[in-house]
Amino acid sequence: MHTRDFFQRKTVFSFEVFPPKPTSSIDTVYQTLRELNGLSPDFISVTYGAVGSKNNATVQIASDIKNKYGAESVAHLPCINLKKEDVLATLSDLKRNGIENILALRGDIRPDAEPKTDFKHASDLIAFIRENGEFNLIGACYPEGHPESGGIVNDILNLKKKVDAGANQLISQLFFDNSYFYSFLERAKIAGIDVPIQAGIMPVTNKNQIERMVTLCGVALPKKFVKVLEKYGENPAAMQEAGIAYAIDQIVDLIAQGVDGIHLYTMNNSYVAKKISDAVTNLLADSYSISG
Ligand code: FAD
Repeated sequence: MHTRDFFQRKTVFSFEVFPPKPTSSIDTVYQTLRELNGLSPDFISVTYGAVGSKNNATVQIASDIKNKYGAESVAHLPCINLKKEDVLATLSDLKRNGIENILALRGDIRPDAEPKTDFKHASDLIAFIRENGEFNLIGACYPEGHPESGGIVNDILNLKKKVDAGANQLISQLFFDNSYFYSFLERAKIAGIDVPIQAGIMPVTNKNQIERMVTLCGVALPKKFVKVLEKYGENPAAMQEAGIAYAIDQIVDLIAQGVDGIHLYTMNNSYVAKKISDAVTNLLADSYSISG
């Protein structure tokens, strides 16, 4: 099923997982998947790890989510280090495995890997897949602007190009201050972007993780969040519970404001995902009955 269709009937709630490192067995992710699937998400997306790797476990895991566990799956596909023939081979693989949804991405430019030139932007990949398959295409978006965009106006105009190229649905970068997301939704509306947009929420369960994320994604840390880190950052058990509570607080507000959906960056932690899912499941059901 195309994940886009879920938005017609409810506030969509989905999870993201990542494949295990090449040095670990793929089986390590399956216990997590079983537990996540037990929470009945609308879909589970699988990241595409090592840039440029063609032997990625993404397709296999996305296939097992769908064909073994019966949940809808989304395969991430970054294109910056792929040639057209690599993409065509991946599309065939996805089709053979019954995977209908792709999160089409550019991928991060890394100093140690010379980018290929077939796809410059995610919108090029989206247009290419549109011509070569019947997939539901999802794009990434950035409530605080993508770091290379040269500003939020450029970024929203570029996002419109991505939607015009055929992205049916968007999933946002993580953020810790909901006001950025609401301002972004307004800009998107003004730009004529009218596809469903899911809010990406990452429960921060340890201090090192947030330091990495802020460097990588350039997201702002509101005072309220910094206070949480200062108070609980050195106590792992307390930090985990505080991170869960902070994410729930964000989600409660987002659902109350009527967002299209929530995409939870689970970091393969099913304990954290379950706590959050348990806290918001009834709210998601309630938002459904209100909006009809
Ligand atoms: P693009 O949409 O191409 O945007 C990149 C930059 O180019 C932006 O600054 C944009 O404003 C600009 N731009 C876009 N289109 C145009 C245009 N037509 N003309 C001029 N400028 C343009 N990375 C991975 O490697 N694997 C993953 O699994 C993965 N999953 C992700 C999931 C989500 C939900 C998100 C938000 C990000 C994910 N990423 C992943 C990270 C992503 O690859 C990076 O953020 C990357 O730097 C940008 O990818 P993009 O698809 O948004 O690129």
